[in-house]
Amino acid sequence: MSTSIPWFDDFEGVAYRYYDLRMNVVPLVSDRKESASIWHDTIRYWVDPSIKIRFVEIDDKYWFIMGADSQKPDTNMSFYKVLQKSENYERFKKGHGGEAYLRLGTYAKKSLDDAKKDAMCNCGHEAVDHDEGDGDACLFNTCDCKKFSSFQVNLLKRKKTITDIKFLEEKDVKDDPLVWNCFNVNEYSKSDHLV
Ligand SMILES: [Zn+2]
Ligand SMILES: [Zn+2]
Repeated sequence: MSTSIPWFDDFEGVAYRYYDLRMNVVPLVSDRKESASIWHDTIRYWVDPSIKIRFVEIDDKYWFIMGADSQKPDTNMSFYKVLQKSENYERFKKGHGGEAYLRLGTYAKKSLDDAKKDAMCNCGHEAVDHDEGDGDACLFNTCDCKKFSSFQVNLLKRKKTITDIKFLEEKDVKDDPLVWNCFNVNEYSKSDHLV
């Protein structure tokens, strides 16, 4: 894989969902138009067996890294994002079975007023545990969430099949060309990783 493929991290996160009987890896794009153009310009041309996703765990975070060979190399991009480990991530790690669908997703943010009482806030606590009288802050003493926020994920229909999935530790990054390239190009621009 050429090192000149640009790295793209301007997406919001990654969701992991069961859908069509298989785990789906869902990079989340905030806007439907943008997700359509990312699919149309880049992912559509990916050769399925060449799609790689890599997860590099560092403390409570992980690097999501994804790339592929393209039938249209001039518009190819590789994707990465440094993310917080989550229950859905751990479920994917245990349950993917070596295969997953890649779909893009969009999401709609929900306020406390719109959310059902048992809707989960991004802090991990339910809507009912947030105080409507206090700027929607979470009521758990140990939680520093100041405002309820939740989102509903919509999976787009088009999909690719991923069969090359690896979970790595930081000591392994030199052995994987895609990951090594990602770390070389992007690591020192991410100050949150250096903490
Ligand atoms: Zn919260
Ligand atoms: Zn909370």
